[in-house]
Amino acid sequence: MKDQYPAYISWTTFEKIDAMLRDNYAEYDRNKTRGVPQTGAALLHGIVYCGACGHKMVVQYKGGVRYMCNYLRQQHGVPVCQVIPAAPVDAEAVAAFFKALAPAELDAYARAVALRREADAAALKAQAQQVERLRYRAALTERQFDPVDPDNRLVAAELERRWEETLRDLRQAEAALADAAQEAGRVVPFGISPDLHAAFAEVGQRLPDLWHQPALTTAGKKALLRCLIDKVVIHRAVRDTIALRLVWRGGATSEIALPITVGSLAELSRSGEMEAAIVERARAGESDAAIAAALSAAGHRSPLRQAVLPSTVQAIRLRHGILRERHQSHPRRIPGYLTVSQLAAQLGVTPYWIYDRIYSGTIAIELDAQTGLYLFPDRPETLSVFQKLKAGKLDRLSLVPRLAY
Ligand SMILES: [Zn+2]
Repeated sequence: MKDQYPAYISWTTFEKIDAMLRDNYAEYDRNKTRGVPQTGAALLHGIVYCGACGHKMVVQYKGGVRYMCNYLRQQHGVPVCQVIPAAPVDAEAVAAFFKALAPAELDAYARAVALRREADAAALKAQAQQVERLRYRAALTERQFDPVDPDNRLVAAELERRWEETLRDLRQAEAALADAAQEAGRVVPFGISPDLHAAFAEVGQRLPDLWHQPALTTAGKKALLRCLIDKVVIHRAVRDTIALRLVWRGGATSEIALPITVGSLAELSRSGEMEAAIVERARAGESDAAIAAALSAAGHRSPLRQAVLPSTVQAIRLRHGILRERHQSHPRRIPGYLTVSQLAAQLGVTPYWIYDRIYSGTIAIELDAQTGLYLFPDRPETLSVFQKLKAGKLDRLSLVPRLAY
């Protein structure tokens, strides 16, 4: 067993961490409301909340591990709020956790927790002083009230009113103090202990390697994450991006926009923009690889990928009839036919005007099998039907490539 640990982490250090993890686990066991780490694969089980409705999300193992918000469905029979794949969320939280383990971050974290404690303590003290002042004023009013001659009704009524007012303020201040004390008790003790802080500082930078060792169990990983992460709020407002908010112990938060893979181009929220950019750059003669790189850098991506693949560029380019020719300086001539750009030039429109209508189905035409181009018969009739389309006198036109009509 001992030999399973990476050699660069001392055995004693690991034992120390392991013991702390077990303590941490036991702490969660006692405090079940914050979510006991379960043995399942989803690392954030129990601390993931829905960014759409605020409820705690459950883990669904059917068809891949996913976080699902089904609270509103259970309570009100409405459709499931949102379902989000667990893997990218977990990976992002783990990456943020590793980043937080850098010594500087840990120190900043410890300082933030200390500041928060001080601020909470100061606020509590101020509230307690306010309660004392109100108690004193209530007692004072009561003493003034007693000896008043019952015949002097006006004074008595005024004093009674003031006394009741003071008592009401006092009850409110006492309740607020109790709430604040409970809140502070809940948040403040969850700083990390100096021991754990020291151990993290020692192994923190090695943890990314250690993470994949069999010695570190899923339960251990969950407990580790919960040492620093209080909860994770996720919201998939658009199909291909998860808005992720990490709430660290002590109350600091990190906001992350997490791109996730989707099954098809149409599901990418910026697919229209990406397609237009590909068409424009391809027309300008850029290579598929160059376009893919430029668009990846601009934050676009292919379905099921975190970057744009040259093959995606190629597919979109071909769909728009933009072929890579060896001699781009010599526009292609097909006897008896017009290409999109040739037709566009004759019509006085941009090629894009024609492509738009091909993709919307207004112009029904198939790609020519031999050339891979859209070819229009080079005849006066072609121009006249296109003129009508341009003038709005035709709703739709149908062309059969390489066949007279
Ligand atoms: Zn929800």
